[in-house]
Amino acid sequence: MIHEILAVGPLQCNCSIIGDEATREAMVIDPGDDIEDVLAIIRKHDLEVKQIVITHAHIDHVGGAMKLRVATGAPILLNQNDYALLKMLDVQATWVGMADPGDVKIDHSVSSGEIISAGSLNASVLHTPGHTEGSICLFFPSEKKLIAGDTLFAGSIGRTDLPGGSLQKIMRSLHTTILALPDDTIVVPGHGHLTTIGDERESNPFLVKADRFG
Ligand SMILES: [Zn+2]
Repeated sequence: MIHEILAVGPLQCNCSIIGDEATREAMVIDPGDDIEDVLAIIRKHDLEVKQIVITHAHIDHVGGAMKLRVATGAPILLNQNDYALLKMLDVQATWVGMADPGDVKIDHSVSSGEIISAGSLNASVLHTPGHTEGSICLFFPSEKKLIAGDTLFAGSIGRTDLPGGSLQKIMRSLHTTILALPDDTIVVPGHGHLTTIGDERESNPFLVKADRFG
């Protein structure tokens, strides 16, 4: 599996470019910004983008999606519970000082139980509400790799104080869905460095604390 991670935009969102080495088919997850750099990686590996997947509709994750869709023709996938957030990208732009990317058109809503494929690569969709209502994670079982969006970070969890956020829901998502994954699962968070489920189970203060008191 080809997997390049590029920190894009002013908030340095981790954009993943994941490709099948044999068929060169690929998916791009969270193309928040810097689409020219994303396209350079796609060209470098001679990839054909089949899917554009958005973990949640915050501007730093979705801002470049339409530009990438125009360049590649690939559909954009997002869970429908984030469509309301998507309609306020102009407001979000003022929160973070980014330019308003304009309307983003979603081709399909995706939710738990669905498989997103590119070549022989298959990712299971895990609906993990809490950071936003429509937050999803992507789990690649054969590689034991989780693209976590802003649900889980190394040593922290996603904020829940923005519209659509819920601390109760993110804790439920983490405990029932994310911590059910194997300890040796590599976690690629929406921001910051990589970690594993085992390391987070062991030392993430939000998860350890909830285990002890919750
Ligand atoms: Zn976010």
